[in-house]
Amino acid sequence: MASKIAVIGDVNGHFPAVLQKLATLHTKQNFALVIIAGNLFASPSDATEEDEKNIQNLINGKIEIPVPTYFALGSNAFPKAVVEKLSSSDDELCHNLHFLGKRTTMKTSEGIRIVALGGQLDPNIIAGQSQDKYPPYYSDTDAKVLRGATTADILVTGEWPEGIRSRSKVAFNADEPPREQQCIADLDVVLKPRYHFSTSGSVYYEREPFFHLPSEETDNLTPVTRFISLAQYGNPNKQKWIYAFSLDPTASHPISPPSGSTINPLTHSDKKRAAPAHKEHALVYDDGRGGRRGNKRRKHEARGPIDASQCFFCLSNENIATHLVTSIGESAYMTTARGPLPTSQTFPKLGFPCHLLIIPFSHQPTLASMEEEERRATYAEMQKYRVSMNRMVQSQGESEYGSVTWEVSKAGLPHTHWQYMPVPADLIQKGLVEAAFKALAENYHWPTFTKEDVGDGFEETSDFFRVLIWDPKNDAGKQTSLILRFDEKIKFRLQFGREVLAKLLRLDQRVDWRNCAQMQPEEEKDVANFKNAFKEFDFTAD
Ligand SMILES: [Zn+2]
Repeated sequence: MASKIAVIGDVNGHFPAVLQKLATLHTKQNFALVIIAGNLFASPSDATEEDEKNIQNLINGKIEIPVPTYFALGSNAFPKAVVEKLSSSDDELCHNLHFLGKRTTMKTSEGIRIVALGGQLDPNIIAGQSQDKYPPYYSDTDAKVLRGATTADILVTGEWPEGIRSRSKVAFNADEPPREQQCIADLDVVLKPRYHFSTSGSVYYEREPFFHLPSEETDNLTPVTRFISLAQYGNPNKQKWIYAFSLDPTASHPISPPSGSTINPLTHSDKKRAAPAHKEHALVYDDGRGGRRGNKRRKHEARGPIDASQCFFCLSNENIATHLVTSIGESAYMTTARGPLPTSQTFPKLGFPCHLLIIPFSHQPTLASMEEEERRATYAEMQKYRVSMNRMVQSQGESEYGSVTWEVSKAGLPHTHWQYMPVPADLIQKGLVEAAFKALAENYHWPTFTKEDVGDGFEETSDFFRVLIWDPKNDAGKQTSLILRFDEKIKFRLQFGREVLAKLLRLDQRVDWRNCAQMQPEEEKDVANFKNAFKEFDFTAD
């Protein structure tokens, strides 16, 4: 069903007037939601006494918000009172008025998927993702993380995508044109939003719609993006500061480009991805959008029971514990395990638990359910993480530890991943690690392990468990791969790998991760120690 939406440019503190106009419009239009794409508040340095009074009235519920409204992070810092209220109220400033967030993926009750990246690019945020959500700056990594959302109906950004005006005949005369960023162009190329909103001071700019080339990924349809940059409220030339439209998130894309449109003027920084690649992305949101998805179902494909907006392995999920994320690559990322099996004393030479998860960006139950190009890139990068970890363990552990990496490849799981842990080298060299996996499988009367390498798993026709064992006598890239294939007759225990290692390392009382939960400061300390050790081996850092 189509919903009516209004998007507003910079308000700069004039919200009493803007909200009044909005209330009048709303009685006629009946908006489902409103997005303020620019600055809701005046910059604290320009704020007058009246501005401050208005903010207090807003926070105290004395100004009525007629319709659910989300305000983006613009270029201005938020007033102190606003930050205080937001941080104590789960980002609700008052009834019907919510902070959209700096780096957001959300789905409204109407099924509209909104992705937002607020503020301005700050190349000096070097520690990966920006930690604090209210200051008006984002990092390259913040932008990269959002690519994991895969699709969007509406994209809201504080800055423009690099190259947006090329191939356009629409005039744009601004004294101070908005800054353009390559990482935002990347978002348009990957997410192919139906609408992309930004702001541009006192000037309005609506580009000709642009279309993305049809590919398997788009079910051979032609997604179209409308880029609209709003002027500020009260601008001297009466340029457009509010844009109202109807959006049906279930509508399918056109078969051919609409008249008056141009081809996508933006290129992805990674050329490989920019090419009209024949690959199909994960459908992130399980919302039954027949038109977008097509009817094809690949042999390994099974939809996970959890959709990506709730998935704790999806990097784009706002609720994941970002302080545990230790490295972000192109197709996969690495995070320290919550409730790790080892403690920081288990491997004295390391001094941190070193229980890591290597997780693909793609929300898929198995590697095999990814399309070829993505599957290869993802598997290669997961291996690269494993090898880099081995190098780190070799160097820090002075060859006293090897490693074990395990995976449950099972249709119906929400989001595939690997777990990585060091083990004492002598247990590997005496064959005890291999024996422990085999023995517990036998205890459960499961099929036996075979020694073989199934690579990215595409040739496999059944579910399987795999463990990759690395002996520090060997090169960090070497592995012994054991596979246990199983079918639905077996009630496979998802914690099998952890169970085996708990027995082997005499950590039985830690077998359930919930009993190993740490307080955040302790987690942060382990992560900091880990990052420090991994720094020189992290291929994603440059
Ligand atoms: Zn996921």
